Amino acid sequence: AGGQDGEVQKAQQAAEARKEPGQRPPTIFSKIINRTIQADILYEDDKCLAFRDVAPQAPVHFLVIPKRPIPRLSHAAAGDTELLGHLLVVASQTAKVEGLEDGYRVVINDGKQGAQSVYHLHLHVLGGRQMGWPPG
Ligand code: IMP
Repeated sequence: AGGQDGEVQKAQQAAEARKEPGQRPPTIFSKIINRTIQADILYEDDKCLAFRDVAPQAPVHFLVIPKRPIPRLSHAAAGDTELLGHLLVVASQTAKVEGLEDGYRVVINDGKQGAQSVYHLHLHVLGGRQMGWPPG
């Protein structure tokens, strides 16, 4: 049985290895950072960028991303603490500029079950309509 488990494990590892390239930066967001592709940029500084989501799920829907590409929240380390805090502050300030004084939602999708599709860490900021709970 040990051998069979070993085979299963090997197959799973091979599947993971095949999956890796798509789940690591550079992603389309790197191209937004280096201006290879166009985006509606709302805010930029040396550490991060905020731009409108191309497929908005609310009247206001923008993303805040670090310029240093962390693939996903679950890959964040202690050394990322200040950067992650900065992303939240920029999300809050940009939400204010966007007129979201009645509130908004901040979402980070992580990995497969979190429904993450772009493996460059990003905060979604959604507002301009009433949100429901729990989220889907
Ligand atoms: P995730 O599912 O949390 O990974 O979210 C990725 C988000 O990126 C989705 O909401 C997409 O609509 C958005 N997105 C993908 N490509 C682009 C783009 O080129 N510009 C702006 N937003 C994008």
